Amino acid sequence: MSTDLAETGPPGSGPAGSGPAKVLFAAPDRLWADYREVLPAALAEAGVAAELSRAHPPGDVDWIVHASGPAPLDFSPFTRAKAVLSLWAGVEGITANPTLRIPLARMVDDGLRQGMVEWVLGHALRHHLGTDAQVLRQDGVWRRAAPKLARDRPVAVLGLGELGLAAALALSAVGFPVTGWSRQPKEVPGLARCLSGRDGLDAALEGAEIVVLLTPLTRHTENLMDAARLARLAPGAVLLNPGRGALIDDAALLAALDEGRLAHATLDVFRVEPLPPDHPFWAHPKVTVTPHVAAETRPASAARVIAENVRRGEAGEPLLHLVDRKAGY
Ligand code: NDP
Repeated sequence: MSTDLAETGPPGSGPAGSGPAKVLFAAPDRLWADYREVLPAALAEAGVAAELSRAHPPGDVDWIVHASGPAPLDFSPFTRAKAVLSLWAGVEGITANPTLRIPLARMVDDGLRQGMVEWVLGHALRHHLGTDAQVLRQDGVWRRAAPKLARDRPVAVLGLGELGLAAALALSAVGFPVTGWSRQPKEVPGLARCLSGRDGLDAALEGAEIVVLLTPLTRHTENLMDAARLARLAPGAVLLNPGRGALIDDAALLAALDEGRLAHATLDVFRVEPLPPDHPFWAHPKVTVTPHVAAETRPASAARVIAENVRRGEAGEPLLHLVDRKAGY
């Protein structure tokens, strides 16, 4: 096996006469080590005859496994490719690529969901319980202020998709009254309220003590949390952003924190990543920075998702997790 080519599955079991499906790994170098073995194994397990390579001639490629790098990929030379299969759940870096004219599927995976639930629950409970003030300050002073119960702390979760819904239900299971907000109206048993539309957003934010941002970044959600919307939150509210950095107007957030209207922001995603060392978020006492780790794409399970889509495509079945390019997610 060459370093760049891994063949899997019984030869010739792809579409009649075409040989193994050619799968291009179009992702930054650092990811190749993670996928070069697990992806061929997953394709074989799915019963797909495929050759995975980083160097197929563009005109031979059937499937493009993609993760955005520093420069956008020109998809024009991939004349027979059937779809782009993203390794990431968030696809804002590719939806607007004018050279992409074939379907785009994104990553939806149980590992991502579980990671996001744990990140959101952990950071919500840190603030809910007042952990920093009551536990971390081991200074010999017996401060006895019992925290509220979760049922008395309204939470808003913006975005009720794969990740937002799982996080909202987990918060609700702990006892928080959760208002969810989405683009299209929904009814979700287990949530206190589900709202949609701009009026719904204002109502969801009104008096919320914890707000979780889990919408994708689109032209409709950029700067979603601006000064006016931050002002709707309860005094001393906490913002958790594992969605995308540009969902927040950074200057408005810093002003709300500095003026004491917001107690804390825990941020996993930023307009520029890695977050530059001189960015004010790093040194701000009311900001916690986590390095885009809320929900990692885990190679073993992600490879199975990719392999299942290749299997479906080769069998003429509809692909899973297709992105609505017009909506942007
Ligand atoms: P989904 O596409 O499954 O869900 C998106 C949700 O946002 C849907 O409920 C959708 O509404 C809602 N939404 C989209 N646009 C609007 C709008 N204009 N107004 C109101 N609601 C809107 O995405 P996921 O849950 O899988 O992922 C969400 C985001 O999480 C990703 O886009 C990515 O940015 C981020 N992410 C972060 C990671 C991390 O490690 N920090 C890892 C993975 C993802 P509707 O249901 O009506 O369509």
